Amino acid sequence: MASLLFLPLLMPAVIGLVVGSFLGMLVSRLPRGEPIVLARSACPFCGHRLEPVELIPLLSWIVQRRRCRACGRRLSAFYPVIEAACALVAVAAALWTSGTALIAACLLGWCIVALAAWLWSRAHAAVRL
Ligand SMILES: [Zn+2]
Repeated sequence: MASLLFLPLLMPAVIGLVVGSFLGMLVSRLPRGEPIVLARSACPFCGHRLEPVELIPLLSWIVQRRRCRACGRRLSAFYPVIEAACALVAVAAALWTSGTALIAACLLGWCIVALAAWLWSRAHAAVRL
């Protein structure tokens, strides 16, 4: 019965994870001038093109134990941290408000997450994201 109480928060969490995945991609690709629409995600070490099952936000990173399925190299926490942060923003906003204010709170929170991610990527420019 208690688990039913969390059901209304599942949709904001999933939307937050998807938005976080997109923001992580934007933050990592835009400064390098890489395409954002037609380019498929790949391992930064071996170039392995990620399969759909490897693109599930946060979950695939955990299931694969933070490693590339092709080369086994350890992947950065950059993407899953952004995805989790965006999910937390959406859940917190859903707990706090609803309607238009919920959308505005999510957009503001996601912008702050994107800015923080951009600063993180600048500070760790030598690290492959
Ligand atoms: Zn790889």
